[in-house]
Amino acid sequence: MSYLAKNYSRKKLSFEKGKGSFLYTKDGKKYLDFVQGIAVNSLGHSHPKLIKAINNQAKKLWHVSNAFIIPEGEILAKKIAKKTFADYVMFQNSGAEATEASIKVARRYFYSIGKPEKNRIICIKDSFHGRTLATIFASGSKKMTEGFGPKVQGFDHFKFGDHKKLKRLITKKTAAIMVETIMGEGGIKVIPDWCLKELRKLCNKKNILLILDEVQCGISRTGDFFAFDKSKVKPDIVPIAKGIGGGFPIGAVLMNKKVASAMIPGSHGSTFGGNPLAMKIGSEVLDIVSNKRFLKNVKKNSTYFHNQLSKLKKKYPKIIKDIRGRGYLIGIQLYTEQTNFIKNLMDNKLLTIRAAENVVRILPPLNVKRNELDQALKIINQVCLNLNK
Ligand SMILES: *Cc1c(COP(=O)(O)O)cnc(C)c1O
Repeated sequence: MSYLAKNYSRKKLSFEKGKGSFLYTKDGKKYLDFVQGIAVNSLGHSHPKLIKAINNQAKKLWHVSNAFIIPEGEILAKKIAKKTFADYVMFQNSGAEATEASIKVARRYFYSIGKPEKNRIICIKDSFHGRTLATIFASGSKKMTEGFGPKVQGFDHFKFGDHKKLKRLITKKTAAIMVETIMGEGGIKVIPDWCLKELRKLCNKKNILLILDEVQCGISRTGDFFAFDKSKVKPDIVPIAKGIGGGFPIGAVLMNKKVASAMIPGSHGSTFGGNPLAMKIGSEVLDIVSNKRFLKNVKKNSTYFHNQLSKLKKKYPKIIKDIRGRGYLIGIQLYTEQTNFIKNLMDNKLLTIRAAENVVRILPPLNVKRNELDQALKIINQVCLNLNK
C-alpha cells in the first residue's frame, strides 16, 4: 500500500531517470516527456550545466537565513531586473507563494499610500493561481474551493473575454486585476495583445495595479521571456516560478519601484525563499533561456510544431477542434473528453497532460530537438488515425 495521501490521481507509471526530452522507467522503457513537470524542467532532464551549477554550489553553501545578505540572490535579482520591467525582486519557493505574495504586495501598496480600502482583486473565473487558501479563492473555481470555506474575501470574477463584466466589477475598492497572460490549467487560452494593452489603459485610468501571472507561460516558454513582452505592456507585479528553477523549486515576485516601496523590512518573508543553492540554479537557467539565440530557436521550432499540428487538425477535423497557445505552451483541444487520447499517447510513449475544456496540454522542454518534435507529431498522428477508424 501507499502511505502517500490520496490527493492526486496518479498514472500507474514511474521513472528512474531522465535525460533531455526523455524519461526512462526502471525496466528500460523510454518516454518522450512533453509534460516536463508541468512546464518546470525548461531545459529538460539532467542538463549538464544545471548539474554542474548545483554540484558546485552544494559544496559551498546551501542555505542561510534572509537575515543576512545573500550574494547569489543579489546577482539573480539584478539579472532579472536588467532584463525585464522589474525594479525589485522578492524570492519565494513556488508559484502559489509568488501569486499570493503578489496579492499581498498589491494590497500593501494601497495601504502604504493611505488607501487601505482599495484591497479587492479582480480575477478571471476558473483561472489558476495556485493552491493556498487565498489563491484558490482567487481562481474562482468551484472545484478547487469546495470544502475549504469560509471563503477568503476580496476577489471578484469575470468570465474570460467578458469585458463588460470586468468593467462593471471595478469599484473604488479595486486594488488590482490579476490574470494569467495565457491561462494554463484553464485550457491554454491566450489573452491577445490588444486586450493586454486595453487592460493596462483601464488600470491606469482607474488607478488599479496590473498583475500578470507568468508562473506557467513565462521564462521563455512562448519564445519571448514573458508572454506579455510582444504586447509591450508593462505590468506592475509579475509572479514567476515553474520554469525559472529548471526543476528546482523557485518562485519570485517581480515588482516595479512604485509598488515595491510598500515592502518595508518585516512586511513579508520566507525561510527558504532565495537561498544560495536555489539562486545559483536560477541564475544558470536564466542565462541560458534568456539568450537571444536560444529564444529565436524556441520561436522557430515551436512555430514549425504549431504549423504541423494545424495540419493534423485539418487531417482529423472530427477529432481536433482547435490548436491553442503560443511557443511551447500548447493545447490540442478535442471535441470529446481527453482522458482516452492522453492514455493512447502515453501507450505510444508520449507524455502529455490535461487542461480544462477537453485540452491535451503539450509542454516540451524549451531546448527540444526538431526530430523529437517530429517523433511526437508521428505519435499524435497515429493516435488520431486509430481513433478515426
Ligand atoms: C502552477 C501555477 C501556479 C502555482 O504554482 P505552484 O508552484 O504549483 O504553487 C500559479 N499560477 C499559475 C499560472 C500556474 O500555472
